[in-house]
Amino acid sequence: MEPIMNQIWPRVFQRLHRTAVFPRRSHSGCAEPTAVPASTSSRHIRPTLLVSRLYQPASLRDMRQDTLLKGEMTCKSQRLMQKAGLIHPSNPGCYYYLPATVRSMEKLMRVIDQEMQGIGGQKLDMPSLCSAELWKNSGRWDLMGKELLRLKDRHGGDYCLAPTHEEAVTTLVAHQTTLSHRLMPLLLYQVITRKFRDEPKPRFGLLRGREFYMKDMYSFDVSEEAAYQTYESVCQAYTRLFARLGLRCVQVQADTGNIGGKLSHEFQLPTMSSDRTDCPQCNTGTLVESRGIEVGHTFYLGKKYSQIFNATFSNYQNKSEVAEMGCYGLGVTRILAAAIEVMSTEEEIRWPGLLAPYQVCVLPPKKGSKVDKAAVLAEELVHTLGETLPGLRGEVVLDDRTQMTIGKRLKDASKLGYPYVIVAGQGALEETPRFEVICQQTGETMFLSRDGLLDLLGRVETV
Ligand code: ATP
Ligand code: MG
Repeated sequence: MEPIMNQIWPRVFQRLHRTAVFPRRSHSGCAEPTAVPASTSSRHIRPTLLVSRLYQPASLRDMRQDTLLKGEMTCKSQRLMQKAGLIHPSNPGCYYYLPATVRSMEKLMRVIDQEMQGIGGQKLDMPSLCSAELWKNSGRWDLMGKELLRLKDRHGGDYCLAPTHEEAVTTLVAHQTTLSHRLMPLLLYQVITRKFRDEPKPRFGLLRGREFYMKDMYSFDVSEEAAYQTYESVCQAYTRLFARLGLRCVQVQADTGNIGGKLSHEFQLPTMSSDRTDCPQCNTGTLVESRGIEVGHTFYLGKKYSQIFNATFSNYQNKSEVAEMGCYGLGVTRILAAAIEVMSTEEEIRWPGLLAPYQVCVLPPKKGSKVDKAAVLAEELVHTLGETLPGLRGEVVLDDRTQMTIGKRLKDASKLGYPYVIVAGQGALEETPRFEVICQQTGETMFLSRDGLLDLLGRVETV
């Protein structure tokens, strides 16, 4: 065993090293270390993220039109995300999430974790492969109809790929026969996982997939009153979450659908212009009707599932009682696409600042241009930012495609929506170097010294 491992490890390590570090290549094809400023050469230098080495837009942007049209192009976010190499269609309603999208999703998941844990949510992980028995008990095996993706195992047993987890989580809690009221409210949420729904018309890219990521939380309470309080605190956490992302979100009363229960709200990102009509309820006011994308959904369930699965707790008098429940979904992939849908122009992607795959893109001058010498300053700046501002570690890319003009690369950076684009041009060669900074969220352009830059970027919130 060991000799083989000894042979394999150095090779595996080399490969890992190569993919993670993005070193420059010499003409002979061997990897060279990235340039190291003299003053810091003895310390460990973080690798520079080079645009030319990212498996991302640069390679996919130029893909041929027919590949681009493989998926049905039905809305702005889908078109922009495919063109920018953020997603790639696989089969109807399913996508490859490319590296920049995964970075963004991981950030969104961290913000969601913070908000859910902020109200006492505890994370668990439940199987996606669920037995039919569970779903027959709740009646939803039949109720869900064709939307439920069903399969059989080799023994002929019926299963489904879970579209949601009310049945599974309630069964889990029901197994604990001694659940004490002291543990309640009990808020369990699932590690953000894929959900499966055989949507009749999967479309609009990540907005309506057959396989998509959802955050689902389930609450167990001692009384109806307590359950309403929990419901309210989850709604507040959702509102905080969208505010942190800088997304305008409205909470609207909603239908409880096949989940059942008595009270439900949708969280929607408004799109489109609004229509005004007379209010049919009060007749005196005006009703503003506007379209929105549903990004979250909350339900007060009462005892609908807890009764069926016998999810009980021991109350203050040590007597067994059926728990009050709620369930709360957030469409993780849909939030990402919906944010792009509402924030972007037809040509340029804009992200909620916190979720941009990379925060900063630094542009050195074109090779052979009059200000060629500023290239070193651009590289130094990338290192300084990473070393000085811990929040920006791994967030700064260097657009090393110096065979292209600054203008062309600026256009690309604009399309991809890095929140901050920094150009090292003529100003960088002045006695006190100054860099051009474009804040893409606001459209502002500034000329800042290195200290000014550090001050500005030190205030950027990352997650
Ligand atoms: P819709 O009405 O859009 O079909 P839903 O009401 O069936 O959605 P829920 O069961 O409330 O969806 O799921 C919780 C959240 O999961 C939704 O608010 C939405 O953000 C997301 N979601 C639901 N279906 C999809 C899908 N097919 N693709 C992507 N996200 C989805
Ligand atoms: Mg819904």
